[in-house]
Amino acid sequence: MSPSTQSQSSPEQDTLRQQLPAERELFARFPLALALVGRDGSVRFNERYRDCFDTAGIDEPGFRQLLETPGPGWQGLRLRTRDGSEIAVHAQALALQAVTLILIADDTAVARDAEPAQLRRRIEELEKVSATDYLTGAWNRAHLNRVLHSEMSRSLRFRQPLSALLIDVDHFKQINDNRGHQAGDAVLCEMVRLIQHKIRGADQLFRWGGEEFVVLAVSTQYRDAHTLAEHLRELVAGHAFAHGDPVTASIGVAEHNGHENAQAWFSRMDAALFVAKNGGRNRVVTDPRGNSDLWASGPTAAVSLAWRDSNASGDERIDAEHRRLVELANQLSAAASAPAAAYGQAVSALLDALSDHFLGEERTLEDCGYAGLAEHRRIHASILAKAAALHAAGGSLAPGDARRPLIEFLVNEAVARHLFGTDREFFQSLAAPRR
Ligand code: GH3
Ligand code: MG
Ligand code: MG
Repeated sequence: MSPSTQSQSSPEQDTLRQQLPAERELFARFPLALALVGRDGSVRFNERYRDCFDTAGIDEPGFRQLLETPGPGWQGLRLRTRDGSEIAVHAQALALQAVTLILIADDTAVARDAEPAQLRRRIEELEKVSATDYLTGAWNRAHLNRVLHSEMSRSLRFRQPLSALLIDVDHFKQINDNRGHQAGDAVLCEMVRLIQHKIRGADQLFRWGGEEFVVLAVSTQYRDAHTLAEHLRELVAGHAFAHGDPVTASIGVAEHNGHENAQAWFSRMDAALFVAKNGGRNRVVTDPRGNSDLWASGPTAAVSLAWRDSNASGDERIDAEHRRLVELANQLSAAASAPAAAYGQAVSALLDALSDHFLGEERTLEDCGYAGLAEHRRIHASILAKAAALHAAGGSLAPGDARRPLIEFLVNEAVARHLFGTDREFFQSLAAPRR
């Protein structure tokens, strides 16, 4: 579907629109007539605009001039209404990050909305619209470009691996050809729903273009990203899509390595995807290079985790315990080459604190009626079981490679990925009133 046809609504799209998340609802139902003009010239109108005005009017000189001189402040403009007459309106064009937003208002609306703070707040909310993909609700590519650089530098600063998955639906053109474009659209929406459900709260899903998606997986090295990709591939292949035919996807995976720019990183992922497609599709291919290997083999193998305010859940006790666990994880990293007694102490301190914390957190989640409690309990149990197994396998505790699996698991999985990632899923529920 070309972006410029997205403004025409069909019954299917109307159904989709009913499921839009809050930001897109806000755009669709905004009380002023709005048009979002993309850099490629594509235009989206909200309901008010389509109800009142002729959407072809966007090609007229007055409108073009408005687009060329964006900025706050209302300008006079004559617009053709749907019944063919022409009326005078007030308009302003605001250049947002990826699009230009045009607001159209009559006299009373201008008077009401002239209050700058209120308008500013509404526009900030609308900026979110420009970060999400209109069809599927995933983040869009412009937003990916914005977050990519901050995630790359954060990864290097905190020595936390960063991986990405490039997901491409197999033979998608055939779905369009055999079942129609709307069935194709529905598959894309369904794909997004499936993937969103599976990835952790800290991971982000973007629509890269047409039938291609990107998952950005933080604190994840390529081996774990490969496992995630395999899960997603199986999920898609096993899902019963509404149009009745099976759908598969191929996935290319690569971990960022500190020396490359985003383009080079994505080229490696693209090359992996190409191999997956040529290998017969419905498969995952992973580029086995990344920072995590370098960090694990270098003399300063100890990863130092950093607590950031964005890690806070808002629950005082949980946050205090999370901070303490980060501290203990860093102490364990630092004890990697210490004598057996000191290393053993660091392991026990972290393991004890972790199991106490899990119990307390489960009680808190029970109190607030968290719906995902059973699943979260299961995750806790499996972390403790895996840690116990690695601990037992570590045997003599002599310094060296034998210690590495347990340290890496406790620091990267039990603390970084679980506390900074999975736990995010219940933050919202903690904010809700207790029963
Ligand atoms: P491959 O297995 O090699 O990936 O084959 P493919 O058919 O999936 O890939 P190809 O790139 O040949 O075709 C992608 C098609 O996706 C072509 C385009 O018309 C369609 N498409 C792009 N965006 C949309 C959209 O938003 N909705 C629908 N329904 N189709 C779209
Ligand atoms: Mg493609
Ligand atoms: Mg494809």
